[in-house]
Amino acid sequence: MIRGSIISHATSEIKKKQPIQEYLDSSAQPQDDTSSNSQVAGSLQKINNKKISQQETHITALKKLLGYYQDITETIREPFIILDKDFRVVTANEAFYHQFKVLKKDTENRSFYELGNNQWDTPDLRELLENILPKHQVLNNYEITHDFPGIGHKTMHLNARQVDAKQLILLAIVDVTRQKQLQDDTIEMTASLIKQRNKLQGLNDAKDEFINMASHQLRTPATAVKQYIGMLAEGYWGKLSEVQNKMLNTAYESNERELEIIEDMLRVAKVDEGKVYLIKSSCDMARQLEEAVKDQLASFNNRGQSIVFNKPLEPVIASIDKKLMRMVIENLLDNASKYSYEDKQITIDLKQDDKLAVIAIKDQGVGIHKKDHVKLFQRFSRIDNPLSISAEGTGLGLYWVKKILDLHEGSMEVISRVDYGSTFTVKLPVLN
Ligand code: ADP
Repeated sequence: MIRGSIISHATSEIKKKQPIQEYLDSSAQPQDDTSSNSQVAGSLQKINNKKISQQETHITALKKLLGYYQDITETIREPFIILDKDFRVVTANEAFYHQFKVLKKDTENRSFYELGNNQWDTPDLRELLENILPKHQVLNNYEITHDFPGIGHKTMHLNARQVDAKQLILLAIVDVTRQKQLQDDTIEMTASLIKQRNKLQGLNDAKDEFINMASHQLRTPATAVKQYIGMLAEGYWGKLSEVQNKMLNTAYESNERELEIIEDMLRVAKVDEGKVYLIKSSCDMARQLEEAVKDQLASFNNRGQSIVFNKPLEPVIASIDKKLMRMVIENLLDNASKYSYEDKQITIDLKQDDKLAVIAIKDQGVGIHKKDHVKLFQRFSRIDNPLSISAEGTGLGLYWVKKILDLHEGSMEVISRVDYGSTFTVKLPVLN
């Protein structure tokens, strides 16, 4: 038993170091005066007995302490080993025997370097124990990597301490091979993901450039078509029959739609390139909303929808780019109308909440599934709903709206319930 062997070693150390014992040994020589000799012997015997009893108490305390240390060692889940100053193993815990596949009987009282067919006899470890540790006395997470014949290629973190006036070395060994491998894999994976991301970014940039260029190229001929359709409709080349007029009308609407899409794409390209610059001025938000409502009233009426604007009692003034913010509001109103059935009502609320102008546009439309909310502000992201086929769109409106609000340091929130409707709330900083 290791516990026994430490104790016997400790006991002999203590005995060796007892000056009173040495004195007793030396005083056991023959003396001239027999009576005084026996007196001295008697009192020395008393002192001796007292010292022996003190030693026994000390040994008992030591035994307890060693037991306590061994219990602690055993509760440590990582491999743990105690070496003496000559690097011989005093004790090790179960985790050590288990992990390094060595037996207790082949470990205790053996040189640490010899264990498991000299698998610990590495230049790194010798450097650590013989040179680095004596200088520092404490070492934390000293990393060694080694091919252990018994257990394979391992990376270990060694935590060592010299204790008991450098008589003992406590060595905790943490196998970090898996973590290290994971770390290396993660680094490799991250590098590969960054590479892929850069590649995708490159493709995305190329796609943006292509859309931008194509939109520009398409705008000129589409505008020319509009002019020629206009000239025909005006009767420049003679009066048109009813059928011809009808066909021309259809061509005109399609051309209008085409131009709208082109304009949307160009607008988005511009904002993405950071080429949208705000021309801000102080604006009465109620008036801005009223004008937008007035402009769109006809299209609301055409769909049999009503619009209610709840004006605030006090003016709400914000510093905005009026033209762009007007388009933001129009986009939201248009969506509220497009994605609602006939006879439904759209409500606009405006209020000032602390330092924010809060505009809420509420509809009683088809609503948006929670799972689709993340897609709302993405580019070209159309979300299917019962009205999305009849209500034409490019999926660019909300993306652009969000970008313009960001430029104004504003924000947008959406609350929606399928079949009940949606509320898009815009918040903008008010003018101080
Ligand atoms: P578009 O209307 O051209 O499709 P948007 O970016 O304006 O593009 O809107 C993206 C999607 O969000 C739409 O396809 C639609 O499904 C959904 N959406 C937007 N506004 C509303 C709304 N008020 N009610 C229900 N769905 C909406």
